[in-house]
Amino acid sequence: MSTMGSERARDTVRRLQHDITVGRWPVNAKIPPEAELAAEFGVGRSTIREAVRSLAHLGMLEPLPGRGTFVRSHSPVSGLLAEFAAQHSVADLLDVRRALEVQAAAAAAQNPTEEGLAALRAAHEADVAGLGSAERGKSPGEFHALLVELSDNRLLIELYASVMSALRASMRKGALASEQDAPTRQSQHAALLAAITAKNSAAAASIAAVHADQDLALAPASRPGRV
Ligand SMILES: [Zn+2]
Repeated sequence: MSTMGSERARDTVRRLQHDITVGRWPVNAKIPPEAELAAEFGVGRSTIREAVRSLAHLGMLEPLPGRGTFVRSHSPVSGLLAEFAAQHSVADLLDVRRALEVQAAAAAAQNPTEEGLAALRAAHEADVAGLGSAERGKSPGEFHALLVELSDNRLLIELYASVMSALRASMRKGALASEQDAPTRQSQHAALLAAITAKNSAAAASIAAVHADQDLALAPASRPGRV
């Protein structure tokens, strides 16, 4: 019975991993609730929960308490990178994130696809309309993930996902916070979107640098030399 049980558990991980790898859900999308997947796969909810945990270890899924489970990567590679990234300080992670954001914005502006631009615009407009990412079944940071996707550079996309997974872990611990108010964030996103639409790489890169410096910061308690 226990052999059958573990066989079923491994099979569930394989099936779920396959669904993610073939792109059943886009990166940043929410996967169906546990009960729904359990019914679909013909297994118990605890088996689904275990499978989600395994794939979270591989960096493919991220369960966010109270919000659902999100696809973070279509391949398990970034899980290894994420583990490596997580061994570094938050300050180093923020520096690398900034470099990746700047390069992604410049690359995105070189030759943006129509679909990629439309998705980026839709995420921005939803944000301006006050529709939170959770209500739309999207993960937090959707605008940035879409922008990085637009760079069309697989390595950059994987590195970014890894660095962000380590940074999100710091955010959950309270070491990192977003200090930008919504109007500032939205006006910087609008400027980025405009620069990319106009295929102005230099402008996109410089706006991305300013934005990266402002949109995430070490939480006051974590800053050296401050009380
Ligand atoms: Zn932003």
